[in-house]
Amino acid sequence: MSLDSHIERVLWTKFQISKRVTEIASEITNDFTSISPPPVIVGVATGAFLFLADLVRQIQLPVSVDFIRAESYGSGTKSTGAPTISMDLKLNVEGKHVILVEDIVDTGSTLSSLIAHLKSKGASSVSVCSFLDKPARRKVHFELVGDGKYYLGFECPDHFVVGYGMDFAELYRNLPYIGVLKPEYYKQFDLS
Ligand code: 5GP
Ligand code: MG
Ligand code: MG
Repeated sequence: MSLDSHIERVLWTKFQISKRVTEIASEITNDFTSISPPPVIVGVATGAFLFLADLVRQIQLPVSVDFIRAESYGSGTKSTGAPTISMDLKLNVEGKHVILVEDIVDTGSTLSSLIAHLKSKGASSVSVCSFLDKPARRKVHFELVGDGKYYLGFECPDHFVVGYGMDFAELYRNLPYIGVLKPEYYKQFDLS
């Protein structure tokens, strides 16, 4: 049985994803081409790992890459409240242009704490590049820093999605597309 049989509905195929990633990478290349120093791409672990890997390989600038980790979700589909930074940057971002790469913006609370954190470290601008955004669920408004821009892959309907880096109970991150799980698989693994 293939892993695809766990998925009820595919929202974006790997071909649609790849096309959109190419477009975003070229926007970033154009926006930062005359800016010095080149941007620091900060992936929000773990969910952004595939999006970041695909994106940076198409950005035509010598960028730096680092990761940061913020935890707000338990093992299930419900938020556990205010996120904490559980793994900080290795690179010094003081005076740097940071592009935060996220898998999905939901309530906005993870992004707003990460942006505040990068601002406190002296980043001269903070942009956000999120693969998905669920505007219907926004609770916390986030503000970019300096000349920061907002890059978005797709607007996501209000469903819990998995794949392309995004998990359910730490599983399914390896799906090469974005989909909604069949209910029986949530029941099987939901530990919350
Ligand atoms: P926020 O702080 O904006 O509420 O939540 C952001 C984080 O929650 C995302 O980075 C992601 O890790 C997780 N999240 C939000 N919505 C979904 C979803 O539909 N599927 C998955 N797998 N994770 C989600
Ligand atoms: Mg995330
Ligand atoms: Mg998660």
